[in-house]
Amino acid sequence: MPEVETVRRQLEPGLTGRTITAIWVDRGPRYGDVSAAVGRTVLRLARRGKYLLADLGASTLVLHLGMSGRLALLPAGAVPDRFVRARFTLDDGQDLVFSDMRRFGTMGILGKGAVPPWDTLRTMGPEPFSEAFTADALHSALKHARRTLKAQLLSQRPVAGLGNIYVDESLHRAGLHPRQRNLSKPAATRLHRAIIEVLHAAVEARGTTFQLYRDGHGGAGDFYRELRVFDRAGLPCHACGTTIVKEQQEGRGTHWCPGCQPPPRKPSGRQGRRGVS
Ligand SMILES: [Zn+2]
Repeated sequence: MPEVETVRRQLEPGLTGRTITAIWVDRGPRYGDVSAAVGRTVLRLARRGKYLLADLGASTLVLHLGMSGRLALLPAGAVPDRFVRARFTLDDGQDLVFSDMRRFGTMGILGKGAVPPWDTLRTMGPEPFSEAFTADALHSALKHARRTLKAQLLSQRPVAGLGNIYVDESLHRAGLHPRQRNLSKPAATRLHRAIIEVLHAAVEARGTTFQLYRDGHGGAGDFYRELRVFDRAGLPCHACGTTIVKEQQEGRGTHWCPGCQPPPRKPSGRQGRRGVS
């Protein structure tokens, strides 16, 4: 999310009030028909989780950058790289250019009040900086979980906008193991605070530079300097000196400190009964 918020803040001033005069889109598995945006004016550029939402009045142009997508406002006809998949020509001599090397991005038009066809956008939890995101709400969302904290936070349902990096960083700051399943009220309060702190710091730093992310002006984010566990496997924890470990969880590289984030205890009194018929 911090990366997407960075892009949103950079593009919004140049995009607001501009009318889309033409659109060109290459093929992509998740690129929907966006031709209805031609002739429409961008009223504002909003964000929900990792989705960018250009308000066109009667409809919304939805863009998700995926793993490798980039968006930039450039002089008409500019070719920033080999991976340009869409070009929205504006009435002021600029193009909104969408580059997407791996074609994991999403594009589509959503009518006012329509139910989003994208599961993640439809079931997304509260925005982390909104009043709806409270320690109580997070506690209820995670209280009786059958899935691990890592899986649930990645699902975007307890709170919107936490990608892999920020889930790992938030869990470390809260002292919670990624495989833990249920959460006490004090632990939920710690996690709530950690999520807000991590995302605030990351937005301030304009995101984290990893592989392909670049902000809307082609710059690099600074949050990588503040990473405590992500991408630090084998290095000592800044807080306690224990070696950071990495393991695959939910198909994602997951990093934690065994010193700060002790593994969850097995529920007491149940071990002996397991397997007894
Ligand atoms: Zn530690």
